[in-house]
Amino acid sequence: MAGKLRPLAEELCALTEEDWALYVFEGDPLSGKLTREQKLDYAAKAAACGQKMAEKLARDQGPLPVAERIAALGGRLDIPPEETGGPLPLFASFTEPDLVTIYPGNARRTDDLRREEGLEDLLGPVPTGEVLLAHELFHLLEYRDPGIYTRQKHLLLWRLGRWENRSAIFCLSEMAAMAFAQRLSGLACSVYVLDVVMLYVSNPQLALKKREDILNFVRRRKG
Ligand SMILES: [Zn+2]
Repeated sequence: MAGKLRPLAEELCALTEEDWALYVFEGDPLSGKLTREQKLDYAAKAAACGQKMAEKLARDQGPLPVAERIAALGGRLDIPPEETGGPLPLFASFTEPDLVTIYPGNARRTDDLRREEGLEDLLGPVPTGEVLLAHELFHLLEYRDPGIYTRQKHLLLWRLGRWENRSAIFCLSEMAAMAFAQRLSGLACSVYVLDVVMLYVSNPQLALKKREDILNFVRRRKG
């Protein structure tokens, strides 16, 4: 698999924010109810929400490692030894109400590989673990703010007389978390790229397949 990571990262770095937004929407169960324009509008607002929160936090707390930001906000951090199990590795997670978990093994190996393959010009120097922690920190802040954009029920599913059923759009939460993590950490590329690079470290075949899926989706869409 040596030599395949650099082209993968280059191809994914060339994608636009719109490409990523529409690709991520594909995985949302409500995707079929939205037009392309609506998806791009929601995605742009979700990204802006994440970016503004990152800027505010950086202003309020000053420069700090993300683990210290989480601690200062009263969050708990768990760093268990290696996660074992299925082909889809879990890198980090947030558990309500206040627990951030990170599996540091994959993050460290990703940093090693980024160095070995010379990806600094594409991804910059920010450690993978900082980006992961920042992503989960967004979910902590989101959990504490019921009025946040990503939790609002944007979509009217049906209406019957005075009754209506509205739903939040789940992928907006991930989009905002990705934008927050990139803004707070200063990662040089989209966090979606780093996500595939991390997958490559633990399962190269799966990462190459994901690259294929993403690029095919973007090509199809541009017809
Ligand atoms: Zn997330």
